[in-house]
Amino acid sequence: MNNAWLRDTIRDFEPYKVPEIKENTVINANESPYNIFDFPNVKVDFLSRLEKRPLYHYPNPFAEELRTALGEYVSRRADEILVGNGGDEIISLILNTFMNAGDTLLIHTPTFDVYEIDGQVLGANVVKVPDLEGFKRDRNTFLRRVTELRPKITMLCNPNNPTGELLPLSFLEEVLKASSNPVVIDEAYLEFSGQESIISQLDQYDNLIVIRTLSKAFGLAGMRIGYAVAQQDVIAALSLTKLVYNMNNMSQLLGLSAMAYRDEILQHNIPPTIQGREYLMAALRKLDGVTVYPSVTNFVLVHVPDGPAMVRALSQADICVRFYKAPELENCLRITVTTMDVIRRVISVFQREVVPCAALK
Ligand SMILES: *Cc1c(COP(=O)(O)O)cnc(C)c1O
Repeated sequence: MNNAWLRDTIRDFEPYKVPEIKENTVINANESPYNIFDFPNVKVDFLSRLEKRPLYHYPNPFAEELRTALGEYVSRRADEILVGNGGDEIISLILNTFMNAGDTLLIHTPTFDVYEIDGQVLGANVVKVPDLEGFKRDRNTFLRRVTELRPKITMLCNPNNPTGELLPLSFLEEVLKASSNPVVIDEAYLEFSGQESIISQLDQYDNLIVIRTLSKAFGLAGMRIGYAVAQQDVIAALSLTKLVYNMNNMSQLLGLSAMAYRDEILQHNIPPTIQGREYLMAALRKLDGVTVYPSVTNFVLVHVPDGPAMVRALSQADICVRFYKAPELENCLRITVTTMDVIRRVISVFQREVVPCAALK
């Protein structure tokens, strides 16, 4: 193909390649180990909803029933919720709604890649504030940049992917107060943190947009259900560029079933994940040369002396983890917390790889 056909902003993009995964234990994408159809109530509920909804009908364009159910979950009205094809679609809708080419998108680094990629497609000026030592966010610099640059959009992932760090609501409120433009808080992992959501402050901030998803805590990554929470006129604005029928019937119905049994699902999925995370972090912290960054999510970021060697060792043990090309994440691996047996296998690979060198000292 003639490269000149491409939109100017994406001409230098590398083709998106998902590396082929040969390992059988895949803990590289923060997926849940729990299948929602293993909850008999959910399965029966979904199938009965499906039976009543002929698929020759178009889905409801605003997933009205589902946005009402999600609204109940986060204690907001339906018109303060917009449902999308995963949090990914919500990120893209937000930028499409507010960004002109040349506008500034303020983020920090390292964070979720999608923000920068979507910003670049639109020709945004993406400004990244580097984290401090130990992947703590540089709150002072970040706030100063908000004031100096007046970014068109400011985005923070809380807790952050891939570092696991949680910012207090008080800091998020400082950012919201410092900006007269939209501030996006991505809470994809909030359920694992045990912390209150910034959604509780929505009445105070007309510039707040919160992103949530059913992909992580509810284990529905394959169904693509994400949502935005914001004041009603912001939600109306986000709908301007939305595909009319963005949410298919299956996802809407399964989302409803998940919300109908949300307490049962969360009580089953969250506590063992938190226990496993604490167990994994404690075990890896005992090893010489391994740095474990504090995480309140369903994943743990670790720094090892030789990242590629550790990735190979895990792969030989049939385990696939996430590693990075970005220089600030050199020798870092992100490990998704799933079940105890997998956690024990990960720990034993680390112990084999790391302890012998320490023992030589
Ligand atoms: C997983 C994730 C999302 C949303 O994922 P979807 O599957 O598209 O809902 C959003 N933000 C972050 C930081 C994530 O890790």
